[in-house]
Amino acid sequence: MSEDQHYPAEDHPHYPCTDAPAVLAVYHGFARTGQAPSVPELAALTGLAPDLVRQELRTLHESHDLVLDAQNHDQVVMAHPFASVPLGFSVMGAHTLWWGGCAWDSFALPHLLKDEPDVLVATGCPACDTPHAWVVGRDAPPKGDQVAHLLTPMQRAWDDVVHTCANQRLFCSTDCVDIWLQQTGQERGYVMDLGTLWRLASDRYTGRLDLGYARRDPAAASAYFAEVGLNRSASQGAWDQMGPSTSCGTAASSRVSSTVSSCRSS
Ligand SMILES: [Zn+2]
Ligand SMILES: [Zn+2]
Repeated sequence: MSEDQHYPAEDHPHYPCTDAPAVLAVYHGFARTGQAPSVPELAALTGLAPDLVRQELRTLHESHDLVLDAQNHDQVVMAHPFASVPLGFSVMGAHTLWWGGCAWDSFALPHLLKDEPDVLVATGCPACDTPHAWVVGRDAPPKGDQVAHLLTPMQRAWDDVVHTCANQRLFCSTDCVDIWLQQTGQERGYVMDLGTLWRLASDRYTGRLDLGYARRDPAAASAYFAEVGLNRSASQGAWDQMGPSTSCGTAASSRVSSTVSSCRSS
């Protein structure tokens, strides 16, 4: 994408939310620089008056197409899978450094950033502070025995989406997940291995940088989750009815409901 790309409002008189000039400018700004564009920058890029940009940002916040800071509504905190605040991950490309958002978002970024052959995802285990890093590309999942733990049930992901993403982390092992849960007095959420996380992330945001991006409807989302290896067993209820899960392998294959969506979904 070029440095001087513009998103003139008049080109999209009847755009749906996801085609609003500001949303594309936000996503492309994140992709290009690793940071969220400011309101004056968005105004310059879209040709909208700053107050109209603010209005659009508010609408996009309400439609869950991005997340504004609770205090400063001019500040975009997240536009999944991008984040402008530290949530435990860094994602380094050849020339650009991104905050990774959550584990899921960090693994999704290389699938969206097609100018990067791959990226270096780095984090620390929340339980023992052991550093972990993986070169993550688009062809195959990175190798490693670490596990991802998603604390918040997906149906409640948007109750406090920053908290949700901040608690989707990568750990040394399920032992470290249990230690951390004990330390923090929380119930186990959903655990999966690196391969499952990578597959889950691989196609999650396809088209996010393009006009006409549409989130999957529940049926398509369900098909997608099944395709990447997250199948719902007939006996299992929704994500938020799940008890503490047991092991990563069985959890990954049986404990996700058809209504599960990502930390950015509707
Ligand atoms: Zn650890
Ligand atoms: Zn996230």
